[in-house]
Amino acid sequence: MKIICIGRNYGAHAKELGNEVPEKPVIFCKPDTALLKNNEPFYIPDFSKDVHHEIEVVIKIDKMGKSIAPQFAHKYYSEFTLGVDFTARDLQTELKAKGLPWELAKAFDNSAVIGNFITKETVDLNNFEFELSKNNALVQQGNTKDMLFNADTIISFVSQYFTLKTGDLIFTGTPAGVGAVNIGDQLIGKAAGVEYFNFEIK
Ligand code: ZN
Repeated sequence: MKIICIGRNYGAHAKELGNEVPEKPVIFCKPDTALLKNNEPFYIPDFSKDVHHEIEVVIKIDKMGKSIAPQFAHKYYSEFTLGVDFTARDLQTELKAKGLPWELAKAFDNSAVIGNFITKETVDLNNFEFELSKNNALVQQGNTKDMLFNADTIISFVSQYFTLKTGDLIFTGTPAGVGAVNIGDQLIGKAAGVEYFNFEIK
């Protein structure tokens, strides 16, 4: 399986990092070794002094598809969860300044956290409010209605370049409020009172 991520998909977050609001989805990938699940702890890697949390809605592809039209995209996924796209911001800033790819800052081991999946029929994924708390203080709050490109648009766009396969995951971008994590922090991702993940930083 592969993990596809969308950068700068919320205008307020693009601006907080001093980036332009993109005209087309900004895409990067993580390998399957980036996955972290079952509320296992996240260990801060030695190569970064500034690992940031980015809470995101994550959709799981459950049918193979290529060049999917937007109006059919909803048939290619039935479950979603909340996750964290951990980012070594110090490394990413260096790479960006040199115009280099982001992988070292984004695709490292355990950088793609996923929570419990639930069926998308239970919510309106185009108007879905979610939040991240760190040590019981609210740090990020977003609503998918503020995404520049919604899930169906992302699936259609990405599938023109990559064949989507069953089990692939799409991280749909983070709202504003990203920040550093430290050893001992507890991260909880919630929406409508439902807890999707709850794990510790070590
Ligand atoms: Zn992200």
